[in-house]
Amino acid sequence: MRIGYGYDVHRLAEGEDLWLGGILIPHTKGAVGHSDADVLIHVICDALLGAADLRDIGFHFPDTDPKYKGIDSKKLLSEVMNKIRTQGYELGNVDVTVVAEKPKINPHITEMKACLSEVMGVEANQVSIKATTSERLGFVGLEDGISAHAVALILKS
Ligand code: MG
Repeated sequence: MRIGYGYDVHRLAEGEDLWLGGILIPHTKGAVGHSDADVLIHVICDALLGAADLRDIGFHFPDTDPKYKGIDSKKLLSEVMNKIRTQGYELGNVDVTVVAEKPKINPHITEMKACLSEVMGVEANQVSIKATTSERLGFVGLEDGISAHAVALILKS
């Protein structure tokens, strides 16, 4: 049994889409990034890679590689699951916290869990998603960015 942790930040800007947990969320701002900038998926990828001692998301999918420009992060997550399964691991569970001032994340969590568990080939109850604000403090509180944290447990299958 091994544990991994992931942390990520994306800047928010007008005129961008807000992809979060594999779904498109209506909002006045979206996340900026080389990929679709889905911060929630990125932290799950990093937690899984960390648990398997497989470096990090930037190592496998560099933001200097045009191949990953605008890529759907669900494809990255699917590849990461393949990598950990190739090492002989299966997911125990993953637990994510998204830190955002706006929009409200809670109304979307059921749909995110359904989407991500399907991409990962696991049960919805293995993918916990939680949300909090930054109490109007710092870059998240000022709505300049969105951050997320995740821990994942993997087991030898
Ligand atoms: Mg990222």
